[in-house]
Amino acid sequence: MSSPFVIEPPVVTSLPVTGDTRRFAVNRIYCVGRNYADHAREMGHDPDREPPFFFMKPANSIVTDGKDMAYPQLSNDVHHEIEMVVAIGKGGANIAADKALDHVYGYGVGLDMTRRDLQGEAKKMGRPWDTGKAFDQSAPCGEITPVTKCGHPSKGAVKLLVNGEVRQEGDLNQLIWNVPDTIAYLSTLFTLEPGDLIYSGTPAGVGPVKKGDVLEGSVEGLVNLKTKIV
Ligand code: MN
Repeated sequence: MSSPFVIEPPVVTSLPVTGDTRRFAVNRIYCVGRNYADHAREMGHDPDREPPFFFMKPANSIVTDGKDMAYPQLSNDVHHEIEMVVAIGKGGANIAADKALDHVYGYGVGLDMTRRDLQGEAKKMGRPWDTGKAFDQSAPCGEITPVTKCGHPSKGAVKLLVNGEVRQEGDLNQLIWNVPDTIAYLSTLFTLEPGDLIYSGTPAGVGPVKKGDVLEGSVEGLVNLKTKIV
């Protein structure tokens, strides 16, 4: 039978799932900006509890299964941002905070890789962040652990090692907008769908990577993420 498409349809991006041979199909990737006070300060902002702000990455920017991440073009200042990733299993709009965790399938460890030089330029010019944030391979992400195995982590170390040295360290209990509040707020802006990921923000210590660096990210209770910059 002939294909109903005039071109090859896009490949579905997916993540491994702890203890399951099946995979988590990725729909959209939302990222929360400045969600830890000490990171807001290191970026030159006063932390506050104004409504969180979001930006996006395309689903096909995921790098997973321990694969290498290619250092992107047009930047000399690519930064690591280690983050807990929330995997949405059940969609909805205007989700109440006290029901928000029912929409979570599981959690993982991700890197919100950033072309900081391009992002800085965009900020200065009042332009969108896409070139700084949403480039090819900008979203390394590890295994998704289902809530049935890890519960809903709300405290515990968030850490990034680069070549075995600690570069970023924080705790989930330092999130300005916790997971339920983030889901509740995000779902007023966008109708969430199964397969959506939410990168929940990064603690302090962001900095540049170079080719050859090995990045190992962890969130207490979840499966570590490992990738090499090539
Ligand atoms: Mn980030």
